[in-house]
Amino acid sequence: MQVTVYSTKAYDRRYLEAANAGRHRLTFVEAHLSATTAGLAANSQAICVFVNDHVDRPTLVQLSQLGVRLIALRCAGFNNVDLKTARELDIKVARVPAYSPHAVAEHTVGLILALNRKLHRAYNRVREGNFALDGLLGFDLYGKTVGIVGTGKIGEVVARILTGFGCTVLAVDPAPNPLCVQLGVRYVSWAELCAGSDIVSLHCPLTPLTRHLVNAAAIERMKDGVMLVNTSRGAIVDTRAVIAGLKSRRIGNLALDVYEEEDDLFFEDLSTRIIDDDIFMRLLTFPNVLITGHQAFFTHEALTNIAEQTLENIGSFEVSGAPRHEISIERLA
Ligand code: NAD
Repeated sequence: MQVTVYSTKAYDRRYLEAANAGRHRLTFVEAHLSATTAGLAANSQAICVFVNDHVDRPTLVQLSQLGVRLIALRCAGFNNVDLKTARELDIKVARVPAYSPHAVAEHTVGLILALNRKLHRAYNRVREGNFALDGLLGFDLYGKTVGIVGTGKIGEVVARILTGFGCTVLAVDPAPNPLCVQLGVRYVSWAELCAGSDIVSLHCPLTPLTRHLVNAAAIERMKDGVMLVNTSRGAIVDTRAVIAGLKSRRIGNLALDVYEEEDDLFFEDLSTRIIDDDIFMRLLTFPNVLITGHQAFFTHEALTNIAEQTLENIGSFEVSGAPRHEISIERLA
């Protein structure tokens, strides 16, 4: 099958080619998918896309006219795909539901530890011969309460690691996870989680219900000095409200691996350019904010699994017309 792979980086190519082993004809393009770049998929029956590709209605209409029948996402989240239009046009959409929850969960805990103990600042200080400790004060994680929003595959691993640290874990999820209950996680309301957590960590998908879940009202309910961690999807957090929360000192620490306007920033080297996003640049001015550029998934194991499952989706679609991990429209509910 002919497949156009959008938003390709060298590592995508390396892992996808290894998993493909010559079975399908993969054409790698660096461009993001949008209505402007959909034409690059001419002659392809399938395309492969990533988190910041725009699979909206105008793009889907063009892809359909070109004969594209499968969209294989090489990620778990699918908030960037208009599933209703895809179904209307009889284009199947597949994803990689679980490539390594450990990769994202471990990065989340890494952010919590680094931000709390200011490791990112200590690293620079020591290299400059500054061994003073002022400004590096942290807190024990042991005995603290962590609120996890979404206890699916990633949230469960985060809960497991943090209970190992001796934390109390509260959670919000419309579908409580029995393994988390066994771990001692207590399911509470969103208001209770906000009021009772020293750390709030987001692991739910971005849906119309979770968009700006962390808004001014939620921040108002949180503990003074709360640490907020988002490794899920940027738009779950209202960034302007979070900046106000940092300025009022309600939010004591903020760790982000995702950002609501990340499409124009992340995955690119912009170090010699002027960044126009004033909201993002404001975030960078706070000493108690730690940001990584959507790298939580980025481990050897995750990239191997992503490539293998993406090729499995393409292969099963070719054989049976149904990708192995198809996303159905019911997921929107
Ligand atoms: P999952 O589907 O296994 O778990 C998501 C959980 O969220 C489910 O248990 C679901 O019931 C729950 N949920 C749904 N709506 C909710 C709501 N309104 N409030 C609270 N909980 C809600 O997904 P996962 O594999 O654990 O991934 C979670 C998210 O992490 C993905 O949707 C994706 O956006 C993000 N992610 C980020 C990266 C990264 O590199 N930063 C990598 C992979 C996934």
